[in-house]
Amino acid sequence: MYLFAVMRLTVGDVLTLINGRDGAWDAVVIEGSKRGGTLRVDRQTGPHIAPPDLWLMFAPIKKVRTDFIVEKAVELGVARILPVVTDHTNEKARQDKLQAHAVEAAEQCGGTFVPQVAEVARLSAVLDSWDDRRILFCDERLAGATALLDGLAPGPWAVLIGPEGGFSPDERDRLHAMPQAQAVSLGPRILRADTAAVAALTLWQARLGD
Ligand code: SAM
Repeated sequence: MYLFAVMRLTVGDVLTLINGRDGAWDAVVIEGSKRGGTLRVDRQTGPHIAPPDLWLMFAPIKKVRTDFIVEKAVELGVARILPVVTDHTNEKARQDKLQAHAVEAAEQCGGTFVPQVAEVARLSAVLDSWDDRRILFCDERLAGATALLDGLAPGPWAVLIGPEGGFSPDERDRLHAMPQAQAVSLGPRILRADTAAVAALTLWQARLGD
């Protein structure tokens, strides 16, 4: 319905299909009306490019910059996105809007995988049920040290980025006490949260990505 009533596809139009698992295909419209239509899947145009087992956990900031974070996470390749409300989070975010934005970002960069965006949840609640996935805890208090993500063991990771106000003392204490969490510096300057997300994902990918 959407393709024909909203996108107004007509016979002969070609579109790219992805299913999030196997790659991308060209499909051509062979008949259509406002009530629906039929596509013929013609040929596979690309392989599936799976993301590494890397999650991005971040505190929502202003909408335009939260959208930027989601977009860049999709481009750089993450398997899951978790928006978390921290003690200093002042902005709200909606899971359905962020998920739609992830779909758009994947379309735009020709990706064949759309990361799932989790429901927005409190960081403390997420950490209560955390398993043994390692956390790359980007700690602004370490700013000053060189951004060298040395000694990262391969395996499942989640990058954690705080809000503009940074992490609260309680959150920092809790994270520093978690054996799964490795506190890292992203360099000598305090970065904006959106810049920090891009930098951390890029550094992780350079160390452990494909
Ligand atoms: N208001 C905080 C302050 O002045 O200390 C800065 C918060 S920063 C704008 C937002 C988030 O980006 C931080 O919580 C942290 O996760 C990350 N970040 C920014 N710069 C960083 C750095 N140099 N090293 C590690 N993490 C950094």
